[in-house]
Amino acid sequence: MQPPTETVTSNEIMPRQTEVVVIGGGIIGVSTALFLAMAGVPVVLCEKGEIAGEQSSRNWGWVRRMGRDPRELPLIVEAIKIWEDLSRMLGEDVGYRQTGILYACENAGDEAQREAWLRAAGPYSLDTHMMRGQSLADLLPGAAKPWRSGLYTPSDGRAEPQKAAPAIARAAQRQGAVVLQQCAVRGVETTSGRVTSVVTERGPIACKTVVLAGGIWSTLFCRSLGIRLPQLGVRASVLRTSPLDGPPGAAWSSQFAYRKRLDGGYTIANGSENRAEITPDSFRYFMDFLPLLKIEGRHLQLRFGRAFFDRWRLERPWALDDVSPFEHVRTLDPDPVETTLDKAYRSLTRVFPRFSEARIVQRWGGMIDAMPDTIPVISPIDVLPGLIVGTGFSGHGFGIGPGAGRLLADLALGREPIVDPSPFRHSRFHDGSPIRPFGGV
Ligand SMILES: Cc1cc2nc3c(=O)[nH]c(=O)nc-3n(C[C@H](O)[C@H](O)[C@H](O)COP(=O)(O)OP(=O)(O)OC[C@H]3O[C@@H](n4cnc5c(N)ncnc54)[C@H](O)[C@@H]3O)c2cc1C
Repeated sequence: MQPPTETVTSNEIMPRQTEVVVIGGGIIGVSTALFLAMAGVPVVLCEKGEIAGEQSSRNWGWVRRMGRDPRELPLIVEAIKIWEDLSRMLGEDVGYRQTGILYACENAGDEAQREAWLRAAGPYSLDTHMMRGQSLADLLPGAAKPWRSGLYTPSDGRAEPQKAAPAIARAAQRQGAVVLQQCAVRGVETTSGRVTSVVTERGPIACKTVVLAGGIWSTLFCRSLGIRLPQLGVRASVLRTSPLDGPPGAAWSSQFAYRKRLDGGYTIANGSENRAEITPDSFRYFMDFLPLLKIEGRHLQLRFGRAFFDRWRLERPWALDDVSPFEHVRTLDPDPVETTLDKAYRSLTRVFPRFSEARIVQRWGGMIDAMPDTIPVISPIDVLPGLIVGTGFSGHGFGIGPGAGRLLADLALGREPIVDPSPFRHSRFHDGSPIRPFGGV
């Protein structure tokens, strides 16, 4: 079930031509459209369902530098600068607050891992530091069980996922972008090997550049164009509670993660258990993901079942004048894994007994678009000039989203990129580069 997400009114008329078409109305697509429109570029955003219907409304809402892969740190620094000014820029409050994020350390091993990140992050770690004793206890009012220590970043924070992408889409419209919902893109057309149009379910739109920000659907879209993009889905589960006078900010431990919401309730999840359904892609990309499986495998519940056959049926090739898989699934709405959430809530209530007074208002699932090295692809595609891909944010694309949108807009415009985009190049998967998953947090 989808969390209550703000709505966006689609533009009525679909232009027959534009400069850039953005595929996907998650935080990445809408941010790209906003920065393009702000630069005065004609842009049309096509979303097969509703703006923020998939991951971008379902996430925890954490906006953090802490624990990031060092390759992403320059971009998250830029993203946070955008978040700091975003509510003013959009003319509405998207809930961005620097409320602090804490990673709990339960033993010496946890502590060593966090300290290693602090060293690796070097100048980017900013105000991150280890907390112990009374200063740690002060961050956790009402905690019945003290943690050994915690890595804390006061200037990390959160925004509201159910507000942010819709507000950005509305602002993009005000700047001149056209936003079309219930408008799947089935594929692209090319002339002399270059993109010249997209074909939507409502007909073609001629364009010079296409930005694919399709979340978990990007791998299938790319495969239909003969482009290999190793990406797999991981099902994550979340619940939210009624308002409660509990701990401020957000914290992660191996059993649970919580984040205080703007509405006074909490967004809660299991700290480390996620589920991966085995699909045909699991076999296609097995070797790409093997190194990551070795690091993260113990946190993943692998399941073989209906999902394999559903996905296999969905993936059959389609013609551009035929209904595509993207129209068959307007909004991917996976069931939450109840046992995982129950376990997390029980552990949370043991540490903070006050949570037993809260009511669980809603539970939902979301499908994370994971890459073998857990960093995204933000990159032109060498074999198909005119196509730029922004996907694979591997469970942490909400916070970095406005920065990634800015970078994608830079790439589409051919202007100086806001950060060096080379760590995110698509070619790393076929140019012999070592694919290194980040063993951090
Ligand atoms: C449970 C959960 C918790 C998370 N917590 C955090 C967190 O705390 N902090 C953080 O930074 N990140 C978090 N993330 C990750 C974050 O939500 C994602 O990385 C981010 O939202 C990705 O945005 P996106 O725009 O790439 O994808 P999405 O939001 O998935 O959007 C992609 C959109 O593309 C559309 N689409 C696809 N194909 C087509 C097509 N052919 N035509 C038209 N439309 C198409 C889809 O319908 C979809 O709406 C979490 C994710 C989950 C699931």
